[in-house]
Amino acid sequence: MKNQIRLSLVLLFGLALLQSCSNTIEGDLIITNVNIIDVKSGDIDSNMDLIVNGEKITSIVEHKSNANYKAENVIDGSDKFLIPGLWDMHTHTWWGYEELFPLLLANGVTGIQEMFGDLIAVKNIKDKIKNGEIVGPEYISAGRIIDGKPPIQPGSDQADTPEKGREIVRRQVNDGADFIKVYSLLRKDVYLAIADESKKLGIPMLGHLPDGVSLNEGIKAGHKSLEHFIGVLEYNLKDRHHYHDVMEGKEKDTTLLGNNTYVKMLEYMVKNHDPKKVDSLIAMLRDSETWVSPSNVVNRAYSNQTDSAISQNKYLAYMPHYLQENWKREPYSDRMYDAMKAHYNLSLSIMGRMQDGGVKFLAATDYGNPYVYAGFDLHEELQIFVDVGFTPLEALQTATINPAKYLDRTAELGTVEIGKIANLVLLDKNPLEDIKNTRKIAYVLQRGKAFDNSTLQHTLDSIRNYNSLPTVYEELLTVVEKSGVDKALERYEEIKQNESGKYTFDKFQLNLVANALLKEKKYKDAITLYEFNNKEYPNYYYGYENLGEAYLEFGDTTKAIQIYTRAKELNIAEKPLRILENIMEN
Ligand SMILES: [Zn+2]
Repeated sequence: MKNQIRLSLVLLFGLALLQSCSNTIEGDLIITNVNIIDVKSGDIDSNMDLIVNGEKITSIVEHKSNANYKAENVIDGSDKFLIPGLWDMHTHTWWGYEELFPLLLANGVTGIQEMFGDLIAVKNIKDKIKNGEIVGPEYISAGRIIDGKPPIQPGSDQADTPEKGREIVRRQVNDGADFIKVYSLLRKDVYLAIADESKKLGIPMLGHLPDGVSLNEGIKAGHKSLEHFIGVLEYNLKDRHHYHDVMEGKEKDTTLLGNNTYVKMLEYMVKNHDPKKVDSLIAMLRDSETWVSPSNVVNRAYSNQTDSAISQNKYLAYMPHYLQENWKREPYSDRMYDAMKAHYNLSLSIMGRMQDGGVKFLAATDYGNPYVYAGFDLHEELQIFVDVGFTPLEALQTATINPAKYLDRTAELGTVEIGKIANLVLLDKNPLEDIKNTRKIAYVLQRGKAFDNSTLQHTLDSIRNYNSLPTVYEELLTVVEKSGVDKALERYEEIKQNESGKYTFDKFQLNLVANALLKEKKYKDAITLYEFNNKEYPNYYYGYENLGEAYLEFGDTTKAIQIYTRAKELNIAEKPLRILENIMEN
């Protein structure tokens, strides 16, 4: 009898153990009973349990109703849809990461390709993400844009000979660039040298296809991604050789060059568009390794800046104050808006056909530019793709599996599969039925760390509330004008001590006041404020850049060199090195 009891106890215990083994699911985080979208095929695996350990998806199993979950975080995925985290493939975060990364996260954007990097700053930001100091996306970055001499964008690296181009590529690779970004005014021979050097060093080259370079030549040179659709409509021109030769300065054509060159180029592209060339364009791109990253939202924003739907959009409230200030510009001429709109609409009119023909597209916003809203506008970009004829699945691919293929990182990114990094977005509704559903976010996972909707919403609300406060900048500007700089600094201290919660109070504010004074050529006052702000925020790079500029304008080169040297020693940015080089050269 005793033995029998013992035996049945053993049996019972064994059964219980067996049962607990089969029904217990363990992990750091588990999403239960969820619909997993396969972004490659559009298939949906329903009723699955997905297990995350650390930063990775370690298991995906069929859901059992009687399962026993052992995890720090169990998320009920019932009736919800799981997609990979989204990529924005053209961004300009600069030093705004503290303000902009939360907007990305709240919108399910878990990866970005930064297009104009300062490699020291980039390294600092990457380190902060890596050691958990901030929550940030997968982050790959170019160094400084490489353009001709003089360049379009201030602060670009400038190459006017093939050897200089090669030298810059080598330096940027050495400094940790993830890819090389080229720009519109590079001469063809310089561009080809940059392409060749990049190929030799095994680093991707992409960006604006230079105006003098044809699409055929760019593809042959290994141009990896065509930004903003540049190069595409050029290919369709009735006489593209003439166009590129004019741009290279080999031929003359006043309908293209001279005053208003940019508007003329846009008009020329629309007027001389040859629809018969579209088929060969598609075939060529399909058979190439080159991707197309049209960044429709930025093209739309530029051509519609006077439209309040763009410039007074509800998302403006989430943009940091310094960006909003920066975006206020004189409107372009009507002719310019007409040309930009016509060019944009022509681009849209062939995009659906290109996708159907097998051209490879990437989703990108170009945020940082006026009225392009970081995070939010990635969803707009997907919507535009659908509007021009992509299926919702194809649109979704441009921000998930396509970036992973493009980056050659399909082993760890781009789909919801075992072994991949847990960058995930859990949606309340099916995005394959309506692409708008990518905005219905229940959870975002960044490398296994989960953020629920109410946390994300709370973050967004506090950003909006903060941005809606009166600014220290405006308050102090009034004081300066009435009573001078010393009184303004007294007021600053007063606000800092007693009223900081009542104002937008950040590192940009005093510099904005100083910038305004600099414009009025009140050098001493501006310098006093810059100096003060640098003490307040010793790691704020623009503080040094602006102060150095003020000294240069004031004619005190020695002092400027001191400031840039100080910034260089702090190792917060690469730019002081380049400025110092320039000062020494000239
Ligand atoms: Zn850009």
